[in-house]
This record gives sequence, C-alpha cells and structure tokens, in this order.
Amino acid sequence: MSEDEEAIARAELAMHLRRQNVASRATLAVLESVPRSLFLSAPHKRLAYQDRAAPIDCGQTISQPTVVAMMTDALELEPTMTVLEIGTGSGYQTAILSRLAHHVYSVERYHLLSELAAERLRVLRIDNVSLCVGDGHDGWPEHAPYDRIIVTAATPAVPEALVSQLKLDGILVAPIGDQEHTQELLKCRLTADGLEGERIADVRFVPMVAGVADVL
Ligand code: SAH
Repeated sequence: MSEDEEAIARAELAMHLRRQNVASRATLAVLESVPRSLFLSAPHKRLAYQDRAAPIDCGQTISQPTVVAMMTDALELEPTMTVLEIGTGSGYQTAILSRLAHHVYSVERYHLLSELAAERLRVLRIDNVSLCVGDGHDGWPEHAPYDRIIVTAATPAVPEALVSQLKLDGILVAPIGDQEHTQELLKCRLTADGLEGERIADVRFVPMVAGVADVL
C-alpha cells in the first residue's frame, strides 16, 4: 500500500468510526492519532485500516477498532489515572490508553508479544507505559491499586486478584464469557458492595489462558 493509499484508508476508517457513534470525539481523536499499521506485521498491514480484528504473532489478534473505541470510552479515563491492562498483544490498545492516562501497566503472557509491543511504543516515543510478562489472572500487585482495569482477553469471570487491585469507585472493562459463545463486554464499577456491571456489547476475544506461555 502506498503512503497515499494508507492515508486514504486511515481517513475512511476514522469517518466510519465517527458514524458508528460508539465513543466520544476525544476518544476517537486519540484512536486516529495512533497508526494501527505499526502494530501489524508486513503480511497483515493491508488490514490495518479495516474495522476488523486481525492476526498478530503467537496466534493472537489485534482488537477491532470499533471495540477498542468502545472499551477505551467505557473506561472514562482522566489524565491523572493509572491503568492496568491485561493482554498487551500488539500494544495497540496500550498506546491509545497511554495518550489518555497518566501511566499504563500492561501484562502479557507471551514474551515475544511483549517485546514487539515495547519496540512499537518506543518508535512512537511513548514513555508512560510499563510492560511485563506474567499471568494476568494475578494482575500486577506491585503498582496497585489502579483507577482503571481493562482486560483484552475473554474470561468466564473477573479474576478475584483484579477486583482486589481496583480502587473503590474504579472501573473495570472486560469481555466475559467462554470461547465457544459470544462474550459480553462488561463495564463494572467497584462499589462498597462489590462489582456492579453493565453490558456494553456482544464481542469475540481470544481466551484468557492461565500461566506464562512457555514458548518464546
Ligand atoms: N489489546 C490487544 C489484544 C490482544 S489479544 C491488541 O489490541 O493487540 C489478547 C491478548 O491477551 C493476547 O496477546 C494473549 O496472549 C493475552 N493473554 C491471554 N491470556 C493472558 C493472561 N492470562 N495474562 C496475560 N495476557 C494474556
């Protein structure tokens, strides 16, 4: 794809997202500022500005732009906030969060994905993100509590450790359900009585898998 073609595709995706009406202008402006093609490997770059999930390394996927917009918007981010992300993947969602929050901590179970994401964030000169390789079921206790938590892999239930690392009145956004069925994207707020969730949309994410991947 030539630079001109890429610019046109990028503008068309931006217009498409605006028409979807799934996120605020501020959220969409940030989505538009991050070049999604940087987060895909050469054979998949042509899919960068289509509104669909696309393959990344380790059999995982980069999320669909509409879903990234919805999830980002649901977090109601403010520039003072710290965010925990489970499932760094390509680092695309991470980059977007970093432009709306004070600091993003992101956990990924594949070493390779975490390394590739770190390199892309360096290219974009993003310096308010910390990445680690670990099992997101445990969260990242050293930096807790977080104002916001976002899970980008599907889990049948919100892991207890994540709830315990969320500030009171904090928001957690996660796809809840198993792989066979459509999952529900939930936006939950932590109240004194526990998590109170509202459904945002039906989605389809790769599953959250226990343990650190032992390949790569
Ligand atoms: N937000 C990412 C989406 C990545 S797909 C993007 O836009 O690219 C979900 C990611 O969650 C995958 O990279 C997968 O390896 C990771 N994942 C799955 N289970 C995990 C776990 N238990 N801990 C950390 N990461 C996990």
